[in-house]
Amino acid sequence: MKILVINCGSSSLKYQLFDMDKEYALAKGLVERIGIAGSRIKHTKAGESPVTVETPLPDHKAAIRLVIDALLGRNGAPPALASLEELAAVGHRVVHAGEKFATSVRLDDKVMVALRECIPLAPLHNPANIMGIEAVMDVLPRVPQVGVFDTAFHQTMPERAFIYGLPYGYYEKYGVRRYGFHGTSHYYVSHRAAEILGVPVERLSIVTCHLGNGSSIAAVQGGRSIDTSMGFTPLAGVMMGTRCGDIDPALPVFISKAERLPAADVDLILNKKSGLLGISGVSSDLRDVEEGADRGESRAKLAVDVLTYGIKKYIGAYAAAMNGLDAVVFTAGIGENSPPTRAKVCEGMEFLGIELDPAKNGVRGKEAIISKDTSRVKVMVIPTDEELVIARDTKRLLG
Ligand code: AMP
Repeated sequence: MKILVINCGSSSLKYQLFDMDKEYALAKGLVERIGIAGSRIKHTKAGESPVTVETPLPDHKAAIRLVIDALLGRNGAPPALASLEELAAVGHRVVHAGEKFATSVRLDDKVMVALRECIPLAPLHNPANIMGIEAVMDVLPRVPQVGVFDTAFHQTMPERAFIYGLPYGYYEKYGVRRYGFHGTSHYYVSHRAAEILGVPVERLSIVTCHLGNGSSIAAVQGGRSIDTSMGFTPLAGVMMGTRCGDIDPALPVFISKAERLPAADVDLILNKKSGLLGISGVSSDLRDVEEGADRGESRAKLAVDVLTYGIKKYIGAYAAAMNGLDAVVFTAGIGENSPPTRAKVCEGMEFLGIELDPAKNGVRGKEAIISKDTSRVKVMVIPTDEELVIARDTKRLLG
């Protein structure tokens, strides 16, 4: 069974074609600059060299057609699909489903109405995701489609974790609450951790640290998310590449008055000019910041300190929320590839039963247990695979 997974942005579209009998990626690619001059696709069939084609793409429908052409081998790449008949379904990543869906669903007209209703909650992401779905519906009307939501896994959070200390009416009127994001990733790595440890996930309390350009941390107890660091928006939680994470909620108003800036400009500062970039003044990319810290630049060092201290505090808080801790999992760009970040986060956490093994912690980008054999809490690196979760859910929903 072959399933296509699509992650559609406003001007880009990532895709992967899976053979679900073997859970193997047959091809993947990226379409960029949709609707902008210089549109192109970079398509790679497994085991082959990438093929890049530049061609005008006025809209997402044209982008989907180009992806189909690439999969069928019509633009220079070897075919990954013999014919469209082979394509069993398409699974889409959708950022926000509000409180409407706690699991993945088959997409139909009713679901599309619900997703449109969620646009105010994710004005930058949902419209692009919806455009991708509509484009596939147009180009492949007979192929079933499934939506997999970033927010769904966190719908198991209890009220005490998702209600803010604000007038309750804002929750009722506008849906103001903690939703959490990266749910597909937290789900994947927590359940994979249980498989690797050989313990049923129902018996485990795990803190999953998804640390990338955007970062979030989740408390996963018995296989269910009970709390997470991102909130109503993906701005909350640990500090990120350019996002501030948790700050005193009075600060946006203070900055707006002090700098005489309108709300939109303050929003931009909090989202695009803060975090690692804002503190270090060097870059939003941790690799550059780590290099700056190694050169002795004090603000780069400070940025790394603020980041790792913030992550450590979440691990402690979530251990308390779960009345114990069996495993800490690191994933995404930073979590998978930065031994110094993992070492600093785990430093001084022996009281919790966390003992990192410095030699094992040298691993990058592959599954490993990086705690000492004596460590009561297992510390793990697990590369995330959101696309595989989307493909699996899509297969499951086809029956
Ligand atoms: P993601 O959003 O998951 O793709 O993560 C991207 C981020 O991971 C980059 O911005 C970097 O900050 C970080 N990253 C990737 N590789 C490394 C590395 N070798 N060392 C430190 N940080 C890394």
